[in-house]
Amino acid sequence: MNKYQILVVEDDTAVRNLITTTLKAREYRFVTAGSGESAITEAASHNPDIILLDLGLPDIDGVEIIRRIRSWSNVPIIVISARSEDSDKIDALDAGADDYLTKPFSVEELLARLRVTQRRLALMQTGQTQQAVYENGQLRIDYASGCAYLGEEELHLTPMEYKLLYLLAQNTGKVLTHKFILQKVWGSCLEGDIASLRVFMTTLRRKLEKAPGSPQYIQTHIGIGYRMLKIE
Ligand code: CA
Repeated sequence: MNKYQILVVEDDTAVRNLITTTLKAREYRFVTAGSGESAITEAASHNPDIILLDLGLPDIDGVEIIRRIRSWSNVPIIVISARSEDSDKIDALDAGADDYLTKPFSVEELLARLRVTQRRLALMQTGQTQQAVYENGQLRIDYASGCAYLGEEELHLTPMEYKLLYLLAQNTGKVLTHKFILQKVWGSCLEGDIASLRVFMTTLRRKLEKAPGSPQYIQTHIGIGYRMLKIE
């Protein structure tokens, strides 16, 4: 039996069945909810390891559900959205969701998101992001000295590049929106700042990634933001 328990929140029976069938085949444990109210009740009573949350529920807006759950729990939340607008995903991520899936999605996509989230969960549980030295693949960040290394080589980062890398490392596995990054790194969020963020990200990647065209560490979410991936 898989050690992870998933709370599946989805009012569409066909989609819910697809998800639970997939989870069953992979021996995940799961509970289900078909409304916002029951999602909150189930989250509180079962204390699931991961929540899959449909944003369009009949009673409570998905973003509001995230806010409520976040008031007492850090459980990873993967948002499932039929809405193609990026703004809904961005609102959900800013409210505290970790990742998103857009309907229609494949079984492989669902399983891939779960694997990414499980790695994030493992990091959270071992408190690895709180340690003095961050290690991920070849990347090592010594928080005390403010130095970053790739293998044996020190990365010569500007203060802004270091702040960006630090923020992404502290949130490994989580999709961070442009707005969130700008507020944390720049302390402001003006529309034009996203262009500056892209420039800093390009220079950071040139130093960090062996092949900046196909990045291994920092994943781009077009129109949304960036995520530091946990290298296995
Ligand atoms: Ca729905």
